[in-house]
Amino acid sequence: MHSNSLGLDDQAGDLADRFAEASRVLAQAQAAQARLLAEAAGLGTRRVAELASPSSREAELPFRSLAAELGAAASMSDRTVQRRMNDAAVLAESLPATFDAWDEGRIGAGHVAVIMEHALPLTDPDARATFEAEALIRAEGTTPGRLGASLARLAESLQPRPLTERHREARASRGACVRDIGDGMAEFISTQPAVLAHAMHDRLTQQAQALKKAAPDDARTLDQIRADLVADMLLTSAPSVETGAGMTGGAGALGAIRGIVNVTVPALALAGVTDEPAELVGRCPIDPATARQLAGHATGWDRVLADPITGCVLAVDRYTPSADMKRFLRARDQHCRFPGCRQPAHRCDRDHTLDYALGGETSTCNLACLCKRHHTLKGETAWTVRQLGGGILEWTSPGGHVYIDKPPSTIHFTPSVDPPPF
Ligand SMILES: [Zn+2]
Repeated sequence: MHSNSLGLDDQAGDLADRFAEASRVLAQAQAAQARLLAEAAGLGTRRVAELASPSSREAELPFRSLAAELGAAASMSDRTVQRRMNDAAVLAESLPATFDAWDEGRIGAGHVAVIMEHALPLTDPDARATFEAEALIRAEGTTPGRLGASLARLAESLQPRPLTERHREARASRGACVRDIGDGMAEFISTQPAVLAHAMHDRLTQQAQALKKAAPDDARTLDQIRADLVADMLLTSAPSVETGAGMTGGAGALGAIRGIVNVTVPALALAGVTDEPAELVGRCPIDPATARQLAGHATGWDRVLADPITGCVLAVDRYTPSADMKRFLRARDQHCRFPGCRQPAHRCDRDHTLDYALGGETSTCNLACLCKRHHTLKGETAWTVRQLGGGILEWTSPGGHVYIDKPPSTIHFTPSVDPPPF
C-alpha cells in the first residue's frame, strides 16, 4: 500500500536510484572527455608523423603544445592534461572493450584506472584480452577498491614471466615525491622495493618504541614519532652512498647538501603581532609559528617580508647586488609564469620574453621565470608570449586563444614610482 508522501526508506531508495543514475551520467561524461583526449593524442601523433626523423624530444613537443592548448581552455594543468591524453590513447589502443563499457556508463573512471593498472603490465595480447574480458565481468557491481584486490590476483595468475624478472624491471620505477594535502601539511611518498620499504618502517618502529620506553611521558603517538624520525634523519644525516669514483668533493659531499625552500612571511606575523599564514612559495600556506621559527634560523632560507595590508613584497633577505635581479624575479614571479604552472621559481629558468638574440633586454620587464617544460614550449612550439608591463604576461596559444598571467603579488622595494634599481 502506498501513501502520497513517501516514507523515509522509500525516499532513501529513491535517492539511491537517482544517485546511481547521476553517477552513470558522470561516468559517460568522463568517458566522452577521455575520447576527446584520445582524439587530441591522435592529432599529436599525426603531427609527429609529418616531422622528418624527429628526436624523442621533438616528437614530444606537439603533445605538449596540444596539452597546453586544451589545459588552458579548461583551466587545467597542462601536465595533467598531457598525462590524461596519454592514458586515453593507451586505453583506446590497448583496452577497447573497457573504453566501450565506460562510454556506456557501466563502469566509472575509478574502475577504468584499476583495470588499466593491472592489465597494462600484461604484455602478451592473449593474456591481456582474457584479463580484460574477466575484469569487465567483475567490475560491474563492485567498488574500484575491491576490484583492485581481485584483479591483482587475476593478473598474477596470467603473468607468463616470473616475479624475479619482473621485479628487476619494476625497480626502475622507484622514486620520491611530495604531495600537498592542505592545512600546512604535505605527504612525502617514496616508492621502494617492498623489502626496503618494510625494513625502513620496521626500523622506525623499533626506534620509536625505544624512545617511548626511555621517555614514558612523551605524549606523541608511535606514528608521530615515526614521522619526526623520518624528518630528522632525512634532513640531517649524511647518505652512505658516495657521488661516484673520480668526483671531487670526496666523502660527505652528498651529506653537505641541504634542502632549500622559499617562504614568504607577512611582516606582522613575523613580528608575532598577527597570526596570518605564511606561504611556502608557490606550494601552500604554512602556519606562522613554523614560519617564525624558520625565519629565526635562516641558513638556506630566502626570507621575503610582505606588507600586511597589500601583500606587496617589502624586502628580500640576504640581498646581494650581484643577484638582485634574480631575487626580484623570484619574489615577483614565485613560480613558472606559464598559465596554471606552479613549479617554484628557484627551479625555473629566467627566460628573455623577447629573445636576447633578437634585441631583448636583460631587464625585469623582459624577463620571466619559466620551468624547463614551459621554457621549451615557448621556444620550440607556436606558443607565443609578450609582456604588458608590471610583470603581466600575455600568452597566445597556437589555436589562437589568449591568456593573461599576472604575477602573484605586485612588488615594490621602495614606496615610489621609480622603476626597480636595475
Ligand atoms: Zn611551467
